[in-house]
Amino acid sequence: MWAEWPVSAEASRSPRTYAVVNQKGGVGKTTTAINLATALAATGRRALVVDLDPQGNASTGLGLGREVGGRGTYDLILGDARLADVVVGTEVEGFDLVPSSMDLSGAEIELVSAPAREYRLRDSLARAACAYDYVLIDCPPALNLLTLNALVAARGILVPLQAEFLALEGLVHLLRTVDRVLERLNPALALRGIVLTMVDRRHNLSNQVEADVRAHFGDLVYGTSIPRNVRVSEAPSHGKPVILYDLGAAGAQAYVRMAAEFLRREEQAP
Ligand code: ADP
Ligand code: MG
Repeated sequence: MWAEWPVSAEASRSPRTYAVVNQKGGVGKTTTAINLATALAATGRRALVVDLDPQGNASTGLGLGREVGGRGTYDLILGDARLADVVVGTEVEGFDLVPSSMDLSGAEIELVSAPAREYRLRDSLARAACAYDYVLIDCPPALNLLTLNALVAARGILVPLQAEFLALEGLVHLLRTVDRVLERLNPALALRGIVLTMVDRRHNLSNQVEADVRAHFGDLVYGTSIPRNVRVSEAPSHGKPVILYDLGAAGAQAYVRMAAEFLRREEQAP
């Protein structure tokens, strides 16, 4: 099934780094990051997910990391660890993870007084990330210094958006922050896509919000949306992306299509 996908032409370039961002929690950032990485790896690309959320859902959802004293994103940003010291492999060949650790929750405060505080993730990745085709940074549910580090390290932003009341307002707020980052810290940053998640076509509100978001943001909105699907919510407790847990499930199939669309968009990206 992966065979008809665009072949990997990006292997010779430096990694394409995406921040998976939305300041709201529970909208599908982590689910999107790990399933996109799984699909990219399944087609022979090398993908790295950086778990930048102190809650560590990407790590636990893959059955990894989080042991006390284990090294991870904190050590990359505030310690002296190099990427190779903190990367762990996942069940999927070609998909690696930098796990989040408990001490990442203190990072936000420590960063305030750290030198070059917005550039720390970018600089640690730049030193070592060339072993990957794609780096996906799974952001915490806040527009804080950790997220700012992701926005400075990334070239593209991917926004999972739950089709619910006030979704558009939240998105506008996020894009204002992105504009400020663009001006001051990272002129190369671009919004590369909005993916509607947990879509429930039986609900009028969901349909209405989807229509509004598509009307406002046009082609930036992925044609593929991710349906609400119970198999997606079960997968993390089995330590697997839903694509591995139940490839036939509607949610897994949607993520496969979403990843194919991601790659088509990559071919057109400057
Ligand atoms: P975020 O990273 O934005 O906080 P998550 O990806 O962790 O969001 O998703 C929040 C919760 O919703 C998780 O328990 C996840 O398993 C579940 N979930 C995510 N996407 C779906 C979906 N399409 N259908 C059903 N449950 C989902
Ligand atoms: Mg998350």
